[in-house]
Amino acid sequence: MEGSSILPVKNISLEYGTNRRSVVSQINRVTPEFGPGVRINTGWAWEMKKTGSIPPGAAIWWQWRFTDEAGRSYVTPRQTIVFEDTRFQWQVEKAASMDIYWHTQDASLIKELMAVLEAKLARVQLDVKIPPERKPRILVYLSSEQVRTAVLFQPEWTGALAFSDYNIILTAVNPGNLEWAKNALPHEITHLLVGEAVFGPFGDMPTWLNEGLARYSEGDLSSFDRAAIDNAAREGRLISVRSLGASFPAGPDQALLAYAQSGSLVTYLIDTYGWPKIRDLLNVFKEGSTYDNALRKVYGFDTAGLEREWRAAIGAR
Ligand SMILES: [Zn+2]
Repeated sequence: MEGSSILPVKNISLEYGTNRRSVVSQINRVTPEFGPGVRINTGWAWEMKKTGSIPPGAAIWWQWRFTDEAGRSYVTPRQTIVFEDTRFQWQVEKAASMDIYWHTQDASLIKELMAVLEAKLARVQLDVKIPPERKPRILVYLSSEQVRTAVLFQPEWTGALAFSDYNIILTAVNPGNLEWAKNALPHEITHLLVGEAVFGPFGDMPTWLNEGLARYSEGDLSSFDRAAIDNAAREGRLISVRSLGASFPAGPDQALLAYAQSGSLVTYLIDTYGWPKIRDLLNVFKEGSTYDNALRKVYGFDTAGLEREWRAAIGAR
């Protein structure tokens, strides 16, 4: 930053932040060094190795504030820049509910992926109003290695990195995993939409509802999921809806069952009572509620009541 003032400058601070969604406004403030006098030349570099990385695609804003010796304060206009992964030349494909950024891919693969994403997300009628600066961005890389190295300190690789506070998803898509991506991306994008729908100081909601909605976006319950539920029902080891409100079991078989049951529960609620009630339910969670009270308010039954209805509907005792 370069500037001049009539009186010597006493204080300079740089205020900056990102488009990260947050309940309280987050402004970072640093006070870089500067020489005495009326002409100043200073700067500051954000070392993400110290603060942790923000995801590529996030927007950064900043403004300078300075005070002269007479106590007068000045603020420069706020500027923004997108934090980009400059290793690649990005192209963008825009749709109503998301923008897809990609590089080096076959354009037909992206078109195919986009068409599937739009069709699947059309199933999810949450009608969330997302501010334009947080419109979901999907960064499609070629390989998982490219994703891993896009963000600092990424210990674990799970196929896609979702930065829900920014509505940014980093993923690798290639002909070898396209079919996986056609389910994984609508699932992750639905989590972003649900996150926006309940965003606020409260917003706690049962895991089965969040995961069930994400699973619903993938399409009708698979025969695989159905079989898992049927077998568990027959053997008397369905997971209780109350347990599904907390974090999911870690074991692969139980986790699979937890996702399948969540998908089935949400499908039951949508098919029986419709989307308006789902939207009402999310609104109640946004305002803050226990799980039982929220269900009672919207559907007239609590968690146990939902479990009874759902078990009857799928023919389980
Ligand atoms: Zn999920």
